[in-house]
Amino acid sequence: MADLRIIVVGGGIAGLVAALALRAPRREVIVLEASRMNKELGALISLQPNASKIATSLGLDSILASTGPMEDKAFRVYNPEGQKQMDIPSDFQKYGAQRIIYHRVDLHNALKEACTAPHGYGKPVQIIPSSRVLTADCEKGIVNLESGTTYQGDIIIGADGIHSNLRTSVLGQGVSAPKPTGLSAYRLLLDTADLERSKAFTSVINPREAATIMVVGHDRRIVMGPGRDGSVYGVVAIVPDEHMKEDSDMKSWTSEGDTTKLFESFAEFPEWIKDVLRASNTAPALYQLRDIDPLPNWVRGRTILIGDAAHAMLPTQGQGASQSFEDAEALQAFLRDVNKDTSEAEIKHCLREVYETRHARASLIQAYSRQQAKPGMDPATMKVKLNPVEFLDYNCKYDGAKAWRQKMNKQNVVEGVVSHTTVPLKVVEPLS
Ligand SMILES: Cc1cc2nc3c(=O)[nH]c(=O)nc-3n(C[C@H](O)[C@H](O)[C@H](O)COP(=O)(O)OP(=O)(O)OC[C@H]3O[C@@H](n4cnc5c(N)ncnc54)[C@H](O)[C@@H]3O)c2cc1C
Repeated sequence: MADLRIIVVGGGIAGLVAALALRAPRREVIVLEASRMNKELGALISLQPNASKIATSLGLDSILASTGPMEDKAFRVYNPEGQKQMDIPSDFQKYGAQRIIYHRVDLHNALKEACTAPHGYGKPVQIIPSSRVLTADCEKGIVNLESGTTYQGDIIIGADGIHSNLRTSVLGQGVSAPKPTGLSAYRLLLDTADLERSKAFTSVINPREAATIMVVGHDRRIVMGPGRDGSVYGVVAIVPDEHMKEDSDMKSWTSEGDTTKLFESFAEFPEWIKDVLRASNTAPALYQLRDIDPLPNWVRGRTILIGDAAHAMLPTQGQGASQSFEDAEALQAFLRDVNKDTSEAEIKHCLREVYETRHARASLIQAYSRQQAKPGMDPATMKVKLNPVEFLDYNCKYDGAKAWRQKMNKQNVVEGVVSHTTVPLKVVEPLS
């Protein structure tokens, strides 16, 4: 019998983790990636417990072990005067997994390796670089590339990021275009050895200790911490556009920032913070932060959107990539028994199950990420009433899509809530 053919559009974190999760006997999984596949960012990324347990179940730990992943041990908050306001030891074990910091390149390479390993479960995934998809016929399962080539699959996964073309094919033109948030983020990745030359910094922070440091105030914040066993130090500095010393009319949403201007944006901060910004040998990367409103749907015919294509969110919860891991696990769970014999109607039903299980949760995390970044900003479709500790519980207490679906169904029955979504309604206030 022929193999079930799954085409994944986009070879970022979401596309690769979905390809890996769907790799199985009697399946052919193809990833079409627009780039030449060698441009993953030099930055750190964390997987929260809800995602790190999925990484473990996909067998990624052994591949990543040699790259120096770091378990986050503490979260410390400082005010702009440099005084410590909070020191919270991490207590992630209660969620059944740790929050783990990786270098993005290491995570991306590990996903590629696991996807293409010759001896994994099922046939190796084929990753085809330089393959930009322009449009898809979502019902027939056909994708059309810029080169004129077409591919046809039984299932199409749209994982082509925040500027997704597949989103237009699924939902039509202009639905939930990326929104500027008025915030920009500088990203630096420092050699810890360079940072250690600053006595001012090391007298306050040990840059090799696995702790996340946040300095927040005056409308801006810096979030930083170590990676690769403490040999590198990642810094994200978030600044409202109106306070940026850069030309805010950037042509691209990602560009090279200017270290001096970054430094000027934090001129009011203490010397040890400014030393972090001074320690870089290269220009920082500069991003205009954008997200999208929750989409009205992720599925059309044989096609489903996942990752940033489906639910791009601000980085304030560090949940963007983690939500992609949840998408992948949900696809694995609901498509477990799908093969070439499965009817078209059944395939469509399974994709809808993924959407119905994932949509409310991802939308809530999008809304909360936005609320935390800029409390005054349009909160999209809902206002989340949970406090940060309750929301951390909401994010991290997650044991897979099927368990989540059961929990939400039960909650709705218990509360007598009739809803087309599975959002536990007591945590949100719908906007009137
Ligand atoms: C400052 C910052 C910090 C963050 N920190 C964290 C964190 O600590 N933890 C966390 O979980 N998340 C974090 N995130 C979010 C996370 O980076 C994203 O959610 C995640 O990378 C999204 O992955 P993706 O694969 O959906 O999209 P992308 O990474 O954008 O990948 C999309 C891929 O599709 C390809 N592509 C695009 N268009 C096409 C096309 N037409 N045809 C074929 N291929 C195409 C692209 O080349 C790319 O490879 C952060 C984000 C920012 C901005």
